[in-house]
Amino acid sequence: MRGPNLVIEACNPRFTRLFGSRVVQGRPLDEIFDVFWEAGRSIISLAREVYYHDAARTIPRMLIRFPQQQSEPVESYFMYTIVPTHDATGRVSGIVIYATGKTEQRAREIEEERARLRLIFDHANAAAMTLFDVQTTALVMASPRYVEIAARLHGLEESSVIGRKWHELYPPSFSEPVDTSWNTALESRAPFHLSEARIKLPEIEQETIWDWTLTSIPNGKQDGPVHFMLVSAIEITEQARAREEVERLNELRDEFLARASHELRTPLTAILGNAELLQLYLTHQETASVNDAGQHFAQDLQTVDRMIHQIQRLNKLIDDMLDITRLRNDVLQLDKQQNVNIVELALGVVEQYRSATSRQISLETKQPAIAGTWDEDRLEQVLNNLVSNAIHYSPANTPVNVSIANQADEVIVSVRNQGQGISEKDQTHIFDRFYRVHNEETLNVDGLGLGLYIASKLITQHGGRMWLESNLFKGSVFSFSLPLEK
Ligand code: ADP
Repeated sequence: MRGPNLVIEACNPRFTRLFGSRVVQGRPLDEIFDVFWEAGRSIISLAREVYYHDAARTIPRMLIRFPQQQSEPVESYFMYTIVPTHDATGRVSGIVIYATGKTEQRAREIEEERARLRLIFDHANAAAMTLFDVQTTALVMASPRYVEIAARLHGLEESSVIGRKWHELYPPSFSEPVDTSWNTALESRAPFHLSEARIKLPEIEQETIWDWTLTSIPNGKQDGPVHFMLVSAIEITEQARAREEVERLNELRDEFLARASHELRTPLTAILGNAELLQLYLTHQETASVNDAGQHFAQDLQTVDRMIHQIQRLNKLIDDMLDITRLRNDVLQLDKQQNVNIVELALGVVEQYRSATSRQISLETKQPAIAGTWDEDRLEQVLNNLVSNAIHYSPANTPVNVSIANQADEVIVSVRNQGQGISEKDQTHIFDRFYRVHNEETLNVDGLGLGLYIASKLITQHGGRMWLESNLFKGSVFSFSLPLEK
């Protein structure tokens, strides 16, 4: 191109071919390049800059649309290098434009970008990732995890998942309607979350819990038309279950605190009532005749007995609560003594309950003595818990049976009662802290749900085990073992 008007003086055949039948030689650059619209105008202004500033310029890559007579324009990428030419005196006399085709290179790059994207999708094992085309709502790309789940969920071949529409693949269990999530993400242009969305796969019992995010992806500019919808889903089943467990424990704690305050207040009210009664009797006694004194004395004794009983109840509650706090820090010290005879110990507990209640309680054993190095008081506490539970949680007219047997290198103690039994679901929690079964049998029995928890911990600390066998409507057998010295 020569002169300030950049008149085309010569061009190579490739250049002329681009313009078909139009004559280019002898015409100024702006008349020719005008057909390229915006791209053409930038090349023209850059060419002028080169001419007036006497400095070479390059455009690394530019998209050029070549207008066609009957069809859509043909798009090609070019790299432009524009250099000034000089006359004999060294002044700028024109310019030369070199254009190098870059279309194939761009195509290769697009393919590489796609391969990279594929790589991300293929290796996103934790997440189920998908890319939908917004125009057709068809699935363009998906991670293997997504393909597997979608195929199972909708009974499809894995190979037929790509290409299916958004509404065909949407999990039916989601509470959000199929169009709402899509449209909201599309219109708001902000990520749309479906938190704790639940999916239940046909063959699996347990449902899985997911966090879904729909992100609309515009073409190029942020406010340009949306081309894709990226849907990423992360499984959060474990986290959600852990949160549910925390909620369950919080409920148990609240229930425990309510019970504990009720349990502590009941004996206190009784003690206060009896103390007031005693006070009244004593005031009367001051003025009463000698004859009445004997009768009053018997009544006083009864009142004091009732008070002692309630104080013992309070003491036991406080002991249990203290044990719990100690167990939390794992410091339940055992005070082991040699030659503790478990048969004798059990007999003592059984006799104590026989005299205090009208229940039929039997003790079965073939040996008069089975001894070991154990903590006598703690074992008595365990036996007390099992026998009193067996009495409380069974009908008043049914017997309770304790049996002790020597088996290989351990002794096994079992406490059996009849009654409603304990359901399988309750059995899995029965040795948990604060756990109480809710049914008619347990409705009117006081308790904090601590006894079995403490008892089982005490037995494990002795190196033994505690377990439960129960049949609904038949009854329950609580057993524990203690290792014997060889
Ligand atoms: P609690 O002080 O509430 O009795 P435990 O830990 O001793 O606490 O018992 C926990 C729960 O287990 C009780 O509330 C009761 O529902 C159930 N349970 C315990 N022993 C028996 C039994 N022998 N038969 C039926 N249910 C029992």
